[in-house]
Amino acid sequence: MAKSAADSRVTPMMAQYIEIKAANPDSLLFYRMGDFYELFFEDAEIASQALGIVLTKRGKHLGQDIPMCGVPVERADDYLQRLIGLGHRVAVCEQTEDPAEAKKRGTKSVVRRDVVRLVTPGTITEERLLDPGRANFFLAIARRRISDQAWGYGLAAVDISTGHFILSETDGAGLAAEIARFEPREILVPDVIHDDPELMPFWRETKASITPLSREGLDPASAERRLKEYFGVATLDSFGSFGRAEITAAGSALFYIEKTQIGSRPVLNPPVRDNAGAALAIDAATRTNLELTRTLSGERAGSLLATIDCTVTPGGARLLGERLAGPLTDPDRIRERQDSVAAFLDNGELRERVRRILKRSPDFARALSRLGLGRGGPRDLACVRDGLLAARDLGLELAIAAGLPKELDQASEQLRSLDTALADKLTAALADELPLLKRDGGFVRQGYDANLDELRELQQDSRRFIAALQARYATETGCRTLRVKHNHMIGYFVEVPQNVGEDLLKEPWKETFVHRQTMAGAMRFSTVELGELESKIASAADRALRIELGLFEAMAQELVNVSADIASAAEALAVVDVTAALADLAARLDWTRPTVDRSLTFRVSGGRHPVVEAALKREGEAFIANNSDLSGRDAGHILLITGPNMGGKSTYLRQNALIVVLAQMGAFVPAREAYIGVVDRLFSRVGAADDLARGRSTFMVEMVETAAILNQATSRSLVILDEIGRGTATFDGLSIAWAAIEHLHEINRCRALFATHFHELTALAERLPRIANATLKVTEWHGDVVFLHEVVPGAADRSYGLQVARLAGLPPAVVERAKAILSELERSDREHPKRALVDDLPLFAVAARPEPAKNASPDLLREALTGIDPDQMTPREALDALYRLKAQL
Ligand code: ADP
Repeated sequence: MAKSAADSRVTPMMAQYIEIKAANPDSLLFYRMGDFYELFFEDAEIASQALGIVLTKRGKHLGQDIPMCGVPVERADDYLQRLIGLGHRVAVCEQTEDPAEAKKRGTKSVVRRDVVRLVTPGTITEERLLDPGRANFFLAIARRRISDQAWGYGLAAVDISTGHFILSETDGAGLAAEIARFEPREILVPDVIHDDPELMPFWRETKASITPLSREGLDPASAERRLKEYFGVATLDSFGSFGRAEITAAGSALFYIEKTQIGSRPVLNPPVRDNAGAALAIDAATRTNLELTRTLSGERAGSLLATIDCTVTPGGARLLGERLAGPLTDPDRIRERQDSVAAFLDNGELRERVRRILKRSPDFARALSRLGLGRGGPRDLACVRDGLLAARDLGLELAIAAGLPKELDQASEQLRSLDTALADKLTAALADELPLLKRDGGFVRQGYDANLDELRELQQDSRRFIAALQARYATETGCRTLRVKHNHMIGYFVEVPQNVGEDLLKEPWKETFVHRQTMAGAMRFSTVELGELESKIASAADRALRIELGLFEAMAQELVNVSADIASAAEALAVVDVTAALADLAARLDWTRPTVDRSLTFRVSGGRHPVVEAALKREGEAFIANNSDLSGRDAGHILLITGPNMGGKSTYLRQNALIVVLAQMGAFVPAREAYIGVVDRLFSRVGAADDLARGRSTFMVEMVETAAILNQATSRSLVILDEIGRGTATFDGLSIAWAAIEHLHEINRCRALFATHFHELTALAERLPRIANATLKVTEWHGDVVFLHEVVPGAADRSYGLQVARLAGLPPAVVERAKAILSELERSDREHPKRALVDDLPLFAVAARPEPAKNASPDLLREALTGIDPDQMTPREALDALYRLKAQL
């Protein structure tokens, strides 16, 4: 009883809200009410906190106040952007009928509403919500048994903002790297795959938003049906041959599009196969460590991508990012790309002309996608038009350049085959100044449509008529200050000063002037004539807008009809942009074309780290170029690098990895000369100190990553290991590093660069044939260490730990005392050779917090230092002890 009594208090609108919300429990519900999207209950609390907007109340539900907040429809994009950025999903619920209709049904009737779209990180299309330089993929995954022990995985990557639809297949070992290659914003993960223990850490680490996928979305039979139906084909053969898992993944992707876009269909290109095997596999940790597209702190600036990005179009920037994220492994394809870069490098004038045209090209792939989804505006039409015109000019420019290499020749052909008559039509149809929203009207050019012109004329005439009317009323009433004005409340009206107004209330005027409002010092009247004119103007405006909207839809539809052609032109334009940009980079920075083949060569002379070099250049400093040679006939060589902290070990390691990435994406490389036998997988494991902040066992992370390398690296791989074994006690660490090198040398037989602070390891070079030692040269000057950043053969004679510590600002008393301890340890080390390994301390980490020394008390320090037994400490404990000591100053 109590319940039904309570239920009866639910207003019809609330009942509707609750029903819609129940169908969308995972999303914040934007519930349209007039000019606002309102949020209620918990959604309101979440949104008001996230957006910093006021939380209010609206009525009661079951006796409780209903929390509410709202965002104006006009500014909804901004709020959506912030909510999506914070990882929320939003269901947009619109009024699907005119409120007048609802009124006709009865006073208690609520306006019909429906969710028209789910906004999720991987399915957005609005310009303001998207990063122009980055693809916005969502990824669907499906798997299938290929043997008793093994699964095969199919991936479908879809960017609905551009129509890209890529399928690929991989095995369990390659899955994480393959997912990482697409840098998806959102991943649809079936529960069984999500709960796979081997993949758990990946889901935890990924920055993508994870969306669980129900079984319904995963049915292989309906997947094929969905694909055929979406692309209107009877068989999928024309797209190429795809595996079952790929088709299921593609079907899941389409299922998700239907679920989120509700009734609207994005224009998708037919799926293309881009196989995992064709790309250099780089796992997520390595991508992060090498800062390929983002820095460790997640910024784009300072990444390799940002450093090499000289593209001038958003589509080009996205393609560059994709190429960087998925370098090739086929030397022939790599050479094709290099040929194109070389063509633009050799012909600087052509490059300049091409880049000038490209600069005029806006992001028309995304504009087209918005038009296809019915979310476009007049500016999107103009954007596609400008894109088409730039594509035409680019095609013509390339056509006159003789002897272009294959890739550019194809692009040129594609651009020229584009029918640009539509662009001319758009030029004729669109006004020069365009409103953002089509419903604002006024975007069709004068003279384009006779009916429209006529209606606009009528509006103009009526306005002139009103001016004439004002003059007449003024003369008739003898009131020179009489004005005809307009507002939304009462429409057109006559306004006169109070004293004149009093007269108008009387005969003979009161027949003509109907009193509407009295203001301070003024009175307002309406007249029959004004009313008639008003409705004439309104209906003309209304009809004009309807004509404009009709023209808009027709033009948008014409573009959507040829969307496949426009998409390939956009693709061709992006290829030209990336190629010309890489040539520009090579020309400006003096980069060289690497030789890439199927050998196991790895020879770089005069190699540089592009990002560090750029940073040093900004400070007016020079980068010291270095050579590397890991070449081997049937197995790779390992270079073991020792040297002081700050000597340049990490920089050297990474620069070699980056040169591989650049070479295999088809770019030129920062070196005097480079010869790279194609690499199949790139691994890197860098110092544990970087992970301290994550609050996980750093040693565990280090071992998991090392295990992956030792289990997966092939003789074609390149492995970069920076200071492994540092996260545990000295001897454990040394033994693990030792055994890992032996494994790399004997079992993986890969090319590797291994930086270490364990000098003991340098002895390995005498035992194992393919290991060589190298060190970073330093000299001492007035007792200070000077880093020369030059890689030379041989082992470091010592670690210079104390000098580095002093440079880092460790108080002189501590350095002095440490010196004494060091000589004591070295003496006892000679007596007990198995004991102390003092250079194990990650002293460089101290540099992160240099503070000026305060008043040191030698006695206190002496006492604290006496209590420390370095032999019994792990490196981490030693570091903590140093911090404690410093705190005592
Ligand atoms: P390590 O790994 O040996 O501690 P890093 O590679 O981190 O040393 O280098 C420390 C700093 O030295 C870098 O930030 C950079 O400024 C500088 N550096 C490194 N290599 C070079 C080089 N080849 N030329 C010039 N400066 C370099």
